[in-house]
Amino acid sequence: MDCIFCRIVAGEIPAKKRFENDDCIIIEDISPMAPAHLLVIPKQHYASMAEAASDPALLGALYAGAADFAKDIGLESYRLVANTGPDAGQTVFHLHIHILGGKKLGGFA
Ligand code: 5GP
Ligand code: ZN
Repeated sequence: MDCIFCRIVAGEIPAKKRFENDDCIIIEDISPMAPAHLLVIPKQHYASMAEAASDPALLGALYAGAADFAKDIGLESYRLVANTGPDAGQTVFHLHIHILGGKKLGGFA
């Protein structure tokens, strides 16, 4: 298995895991861009949001899980980002949703 997030899900690569349920894990980003920077990673491998569009129930669970987690850690304002494709900045080709917060966030692009 050469997918780094599949290996984190399997416990083969260590990560700071903050939450887990049947659908996903939530870990701290290794290179945080904000005081709160988490990654919501589905256990099922989809290369990107484009591929995961075939599984809307999972996408709903991931976004709901992200919002619940943000509330649990006391974030009132946050941004959920799923970079999709290289030109959008996707570097890991296993679907993930960034949770960014804990500071005033700047504009897009
Ligand atoms: P992308 O650029 O694909 O939207 O986001 C990938 C994110 O995964 C980046 O923010 C990067 O810092 C993070 N990342 C890459 N490798 C690892 C890792 O091994 N562990 C953790 N916790 N985060 C990682
Ligand atoms: Zn994977």
